Amino acid sequence: MATAGNRIPTRGPLWMLAATGALLGVASAASPVSPELRVTPADVAQGGVFLVEVAVSGQAGSVRVTVAGRPLLLYRTPAGFRAFAGTSPATPPGALAVRMQADFGGRTVHAIRTVRVRPARFAVRYLRVPPEMLDPRLAAYERQRVLAATSNPLPRPLWDGPFRVPVAGPVASPYGVRSLYNGQPRGHHLGVDIRAAAGTPVRAAHAGVVVLAERLPLGGNTIIVDHGAGVFTSYLHLATLAVQPGERVRASQVVGFVGSTGLSTAPHLHWAVRVNGVPVDPLQWLRGELVSRP
Ligand SMILES: [Zn+2]
Repeated sequence: MATAGNRIPTRGPLWMLAATGALLGVASAASPVSPELRVTPADVAQGGVFLVEVAVSGQAGSVRVTVAGRPLLLYRTPAGFRAFAGTSPATPPGALAVRMQADFGGRTVHAIRTVRVRPARFAVRYLRVPPEMLDPRLAAYERQRVLAATSNPLPRPLWDGPFRVPVAGPVASPYGVRSLYNGQPRGHHLGVDIRAAAGTPVRAAHAGVVVLAERLPLGGNTIIVDHGAGVFTSYLHLATLAVQPGERVRASQVVGFVGSTGLSTAPHLHWAVRVNGVPVDPLQWLRGELVSRP
């Protein structure tokens, strides 16, 4: 049973509490604070996503976290900082180092955590396509357009809760399969192909801002949505586009219609999710263990 003296005072004395809190903040910044680096889960298959959290007490000047040398986009939470990190078929199986550097008023703290990356078994698919589509200049142009559109991500998550499937239909080609085009290896399939009739509405997987809405040589009519915190979704091979760059979209808002434009052999949606630059397995975002906002 709390006595009157233990209750949080209301009105007048509140500013005094705030002042005390500020003093504590200064005190803990000056005394040894250990920011705690956590990764969840610490074990993923290639294509999996993990959460990086830095719990800080006191005042953190700046915190930097890299995975395989690539900096993550961290956002502030009441407990510290948070970021999403991804793996892909290009991530070597084994130990993946997550490195933190935190600066606290002139004091620098380093920490390393390890995520175990399990090898995923990827099937092989064989496709016949017009040879002119394999001109490397087309892929280079497309990469440059996508990089330009995704180079300035919104800092905080605009979504809350699991992502939603953009179009209903069977998976025609899963994430990660190795593709051979006209017998030539072309790398892994870095999204999921969902079969649907031409003209079926395609819906934004979650809230965000459209950063690309244009025809690309291989992706065909393509939409990219920035969901914040380094998470982007892409919708390829659309028949037509229903949104413009810069437009804010709600979860499940129609962004286009299923088609077969670009490097595509039949109507379907190629849906991809990139996390801090890494193309990850999109289907895990529908389950939502990792994706809720704090
Ligand atoms: Zn595809």
